[in-house]
Amino acid sequence: MEIPFNKDLFVGDSPSFETSQKAELKTIVEEVEKIFGERDESYEIAAILFYDGPPHIKIQEKKLIIYLGQTALNNLYTFIFQLSHEAVHLLSPVFDKDVIWLEESIATSFSVKYTDNKQYGRPSDKEYKYIKAKNLGDKILKINPAIIKKLRSRNFVISDIKIEDLISAGIKPYLANPLSEKFKKSPDRDASVGKPKTARNSP
Ligand SMILES: [Zn+2]
Repeated sequence: MEIPFNKDLFVGDSPSFETSQKAELKTIVEEVEKIFGERDESYEIAAILFYDGPPHIKIQEKKLIIYLGQTALNNLYTFIFQLSHEAVHLLSPVFDKDVIWLEESIATSFSVKYTDNKQYGRPSDKEYKYIKAKNLGDKILKINPAIIKKLRSRNFVISDIKIEDLISAGIKPYLANPLSEKFKKSPDRDASVGKPKTARNSP
């Protein structure tokens, strides 16, 4: 996988910094694809940017820009934690308002697990919605680790997966119900930290 990066986009100016970011992204995307199925390669992963705000994916036509927090610039652990979450949103990108709990749940569950496995410690997740998302994600992946792959073989876009699909894949209604809801319905972390909401972005 070739990921074209614009060198000027990085605050860290050394080639090794850029190279290690590319390498880490490649490793993470491969791991995410192994667990959740292939990503939609009609989208180009165009850049990783750092800014003062919550991590998210921006869709610009067929280009994906990964926005990470400023803190991810100087801390490998934070970088990997944030990137491994956003990597799940790269699989079948949809706009912010369309992301469902299922996608947010597996993204959060994966990032926690991936970071733990890498022995960078466990993230302190203070945000209630993301704790709930992690728990939901853990639950369905424990029931069947290959469930997302199975669901995506019929419905490739994760956030287009419907409650009926979840139930027919063996997920009990008490889990299928919240998982099929839109994530942005209830108060989100953008609001909780007083950041302006960014329209047309994935969380
Ligand atoms: Zn997310």
